[in-house]
Amino acid sequence: MSGLDPDNWDALRQLGHRMLDDMIDRLSHLREQPVWQPMPDGLRQELRTGLPDGPSAPEDLYARFQQLVVPYATGNVHPGFMGWVHGGGTAVGMLSELLAGGLNANCGGRDHAPIEVEREVIRWAAQICGFPTDCSGLLVTGSSMANMIAVITASRAVPDGLAMRHAGVGTRRLTGYAAASAHGCISRAFDLTGLGSDALRIIPVDRNNRMILPELEKAIARDRAAGYEPFMIVGTAGTVDTGSIDDLDQLASIAAREKLWFHVDGAFGALAALSADLRPMLRGMERADSIAFDFHKWAQVQYDAGCILVRDPTLQAAAFAQSRSYLAREDRGLATNGPWFCDLGPDLSRGFRALKVWMTLGTYGAQRMGEMVAGCCAIARHLARLVEENPRTELLAPVTLNIVCFRVLAPVDDLDHFNGEIVKDLHESGVAAPSTTMIHGQKAVRAAIVNHRTVEADVDRMLEKLLELADARLAREKQG
Ligand SMILES: *Cc1c(COP(=O)(O)O)cnc(C)c1O
Repeated sequence: MSGLDPDNWDALRQLGHRMLDDMIDRLSHLREQPVWQPMPDGLRQELRTGLPDGPSAPEDLYARFQQLVVPYATGNVHPGFMGWVHGGGTAVGMLSELLAGGLNANCGGRDHAPIEVEREVIRWAAQICGFPTDCSGLLVTGSSMANMIAVITASRAVPDGLAMRHAGVGTRRLTGYAAASAHGCISRAFDLTGLGSDALRIIPVDRNNRMILPELEKAIARDRAAGYEPFMIVGTAGTVDTGSIDDLDQLASIAAREKLWFHVDGAFGALAALSADLRPMLRGMERADSIAFDFHKWAQVQYDAGCILVRDPTLQAAAFAQSRSYLAREDRGLATNGPWFCDLGPDLSRGFRALKVWMTLGTYGAQRMGEMVAGCCAIARHLARLVEENPRTELLAPVTLNIVCFRVLAPVDDLDHFNGEIVKDLHESGVAAPSTTMIHGQKAVRAAIVNHRTVEADVDRMLEKLLELADARLAREKQG
């Protein structure tokens, strides 16, 4: 026996055709299926076979995939999915995953075309964000990793910061600043990098969930006076709870004045730059030292595909490259073409994430992508209007981009509990899947319109069903 490939390529080709047909059928009939349904315990058990000792036919495994996996996926491909901030993916992105799998490229480095594709995608990302195209950057799992790379790069860029690469943080007392509305992964990045989550100062927000700038300036002054070493400000373009956007232009000015690194977490919101109508809200993002965002959210690229951009290309390599000769490499052969992507982040082996980004953005183009992003925001405004016009519902946060936070009013003792329960009822109905969050201490139904397949009728249906389920629950509670 030599290798693991089949003897019978024709059978595999036929199976591949069938898989493709089945999946495209599914994607083209999403509305006929429930958004989500819980996986029955019996089926969960069926997946627990233990390590297979002998072979199985791929046809049999595919049948198990259809039976055990497909009906019980997250549901974020479905137009009724409005929970968290999940991208919907596209059919063309799916095909590019197939192609990338065929090449099985390792994009850690070396001289091959997939590296050039990733470099081009990084230049596209720079263009989207208003960065110089000679910035450095890297595709990573998601914004959690991208934000962590930014924290590491920024902390190594302080005077004598590179010493921390071998000596550790030691007695240095570096502090960073982010709003209370910043994503939890920022605090986690401070934790994981050894700076400590206490070193991230949490700045209060105003009623619109934006960082209060005088509070930021006070915190920096207080820390300097106490002997701390402020090094970075993190602004958010599109906060995860409400979609609010910090005043990035003012933050950039404060960072410049205070000589601090300015990082923007634009996980989904940075992509609003694709729309000429929305772009002005992001003013100042282009002045950042680094930007983190996800292609797998609003750009609809298949999971996972996050991106980090660093304005000064020498600083990212200074923080991550393991040898000073990273630019040199070999003079000929496969081991040339530095700097390698493994010099810009923690991963050595890396998949060909860039292909699905290149094919998805290539297929639709920046203009159509921008229209789709603006379309999501228009649907969110439509939903906000419905909520405001209906005496049974209350809007809980202003709608900046694509996220609507509201609650259903009802004659119950505990509105928070009630809204939490009807959202679970809605998930189980299979009709729609918003999530929940807390807004100023009140439980909110949170609908994030991220999927390119979602239309106004989908949010109409979501709200209708939610109110119907609220009635049903009230009637049951009256009886009981
Ligand atoms: C989703 C999100 C993150 C985390 O991104 P992942 O891709 O899930 O790691 C960070 N910040 C914001 C604002 C987000 O919305």
